[in-house]
Amino acid sequence: MIPVSDAAWQTPRWQSELADAITDPAELLALLDLDAALLPAALQSAAAFPLRVPRGFVARMRTGDPHDPLLRQVLPIADELATIPGYVEDPLEETAELPDDGVLRKYDGRALVVTTGACGVHCRYCFRRHFPYSDTRAASDGWQPVLARFAADPSLAEAILSGGDPLTLSDRRLALLVEGLGAVPHLRRLRIHTRQPVVLPTRIDGQLLRWLRATRLETVVVIHANHPAEIDQAVRDALAALRDAGATLLNQSVLLRGVNDSVPVLAELSEALFGAGVLPYYLHLLDPVAGAAHFDLPLSTAHALHGGLQRRLPGYLVPRLVREVAGEPMKTPVYA
Ligand SMILES: *Cc1c(COP(=O)(O)O)cnc(C)c1O
Ligand code: SF4
Repeated sequence: MIPVSDAAWQTPRWQSELADAITDPAELLALLDLDAALLPAALQSAAAFPLRVPRGFVARMRTGDPHDPLLRQVLPIADELATIPGYVEDPLEETAELPDDGVLRKYDGRALVVTTGACGVHCRYCFRRHFPYSDTRAASDGWQPVLARFAADPSLAEAILSGGDPLTLSDRRLALLVEGLGAVPHLRRLRIHTRQPVVLPTRIDGQLLRWLRATRLETVVVIHANHPAEIDQAVRDALAALRDAGATLLNQSVLLRGVNDSVPVLAELSEALFGAGVLPYYLHLLDPVAGAAHFDLPLSTAHALHGGLQRRLPGYLVPRLVREVAGEPMKTPVYA
């Protein structure tokens, strides 16, 4: 018999929810009361990049609406199958750059650890949809090669945990990494880029908060919400817990046709984020990745939307409009 009172025997709730995510397009369509005619294209597109969405995120979608802005981010559709010139598999040319230990030295003063290839959700617009996910070995050997890279370079003040989504890793592994980084004397900041607080808010549990509170590093958590309907009470509670543990919270969004390409939606996103203790940080132009062209917008539209936001909101609620240019050592601001 399993002693249920023994915590060591229990899978954390978030891990069960992660394992229970919806991966079958037929199930997603049925749950949302959508036309089964969408199924063949969904299956075909999911063969290239699988469907994955936690049930709690689906619960925030409107039933019967194939254009729901949250659904559009995760449902594989026929548009993905089109080959459009200029939309390529590796727009940021990161495949060539990724060293064995998973540490990307792309920016000055900070280095990015590709901690894992896994994500809690599969976003259809993701530039990593063709990434050789399984190739990163950063977490092996107790992070020793990663920690050695940071220790050897005194110019590094910040460690950025990225992926995939770092918060799909177990707290045991993360605690080991963060403890190791904290022991590197010249490091000041730990930054975590994650969509988990939004798509799987139960991930922010006591185990996670324990190692987060314990680190001497100043901590920044960059979440990733694209639409105000993503932020419900469970998400607000998770974000409040992160803030309570000392983290500064920022958000980055991607500008997506059919999801958040309107001034009222972007303004409400900023308001909802601020209400949850998060400052809008970046609004990214779409990376031109194959299969995501249907999310793209003309540059003139991006400028008009950003201009509309600037007129409507105080400066601290207006995210910076940026794009990522392959090989550039920083984000490139997009000016009108
Ligand atoms: C842009 C970006 C960074 C670094 O850029 P900053 O200008 O320092 O914010 C790091 N990680 C991810 C995932 C990014 O998108
Ligand atoms: S969570 Fe981030 S890295 Fe993962 S699929 Fe979505 S956009 Fe891509």
